[in-house]
Amino acid sequence: MGRKFFVGGNWKCNGTPEEVKKIVSVLNEGQVPSSDVVEVVVSPPFLFLGLVKSSLRPDFHVAAQNCWVKKGGAFTGEISAEMLVNLGIPWVILGHSERRLILNESNEFVGDKVAYALSQGLKVIACVGETLEQREAGSTMDVVAAQTKAIADRVSSWSNIVLAYEPVWAIGTGKVATPAQAQEVHFELRKWLFANTSPEIAAATRIIYGGISINVSHVLVHLLLSFGSVNGANCKELAAQPDVDGFLVGGASLKPEFIDIIKSAE
Ligand code: PGA
Repeated sequence: MGRKFFVGGNWKCNGTPEEVKKIVSVLNEGQVPSSDVVEVVVSPPFLFLGLVKSSLRPDFHVAAQNCWVKKGGAFTGEISAEMLVNLGIPWVILGHSERRLILNESNEFVGDKVAYALSQGLKVIACVGETLEQREAGSTMDVVAAQTKAIADRVSSWSNIVLAYEPVWAIGTGKVATPAQAQEVHFELRKWLFANTSPEIAAATRIIYGGISINVSHVLVHLLLSFGSVNGANCKELAAQPDVDGFLVGGASLKPEFIDIIKSAE
């Protein structure tokens, strides 16, 4: 069974209501492959989930960017998985590196969150990835395996998990892993799933790549040189790798280029 291409748009902590309406209208007008070919999920900040859900085309879905680790209650400032389910939000991103690094979310805490969100019926985009220091120290696989293990130890089914490999050094920096670098880690992650979960889970789980945004100076250079979308071009090559099943897009998901990235599914 083939793995359906998956493109997630992580809007992070960005947007005014006006900007959100604009992004949604660009998405709604975008010509993209059918939902048989690509699954598209966009993740606005919590406050805009309702607005986006009610105005977004029906073939695209929404995700929250986080949720609480267990049942709601006296946890000021948190939003529970049950609330998301009650509001008809099908997906949640968990374990993003910004939360792991800035908010000190540990592997175990992220694993607990994934397990609880799944138990409530949410689908999860679970993020893993190494820092530059860890890559340079040669520990990329140890790091992503430990992050993945903390999830695998707590869940029995992976059918509602998409695993996002996002090298921290590539997020929002303008640096993009080469197709070979991405493929290498995706291949190793799939091998890890094969050995530590099951061959079926390894074959069916989508492993998507994150960290493709280009910074403004790159955009200008590429506009001048090629009048084309370097994202689209990069994405085609990345998407052609056998173990790359899609993308989690940050900065570029707020721009029309997101449509080009979705098209790389074809
Ligand atoms: P980027 O971020 O596409 O802006 O590099 C990806 C992410 O953080 O999910």
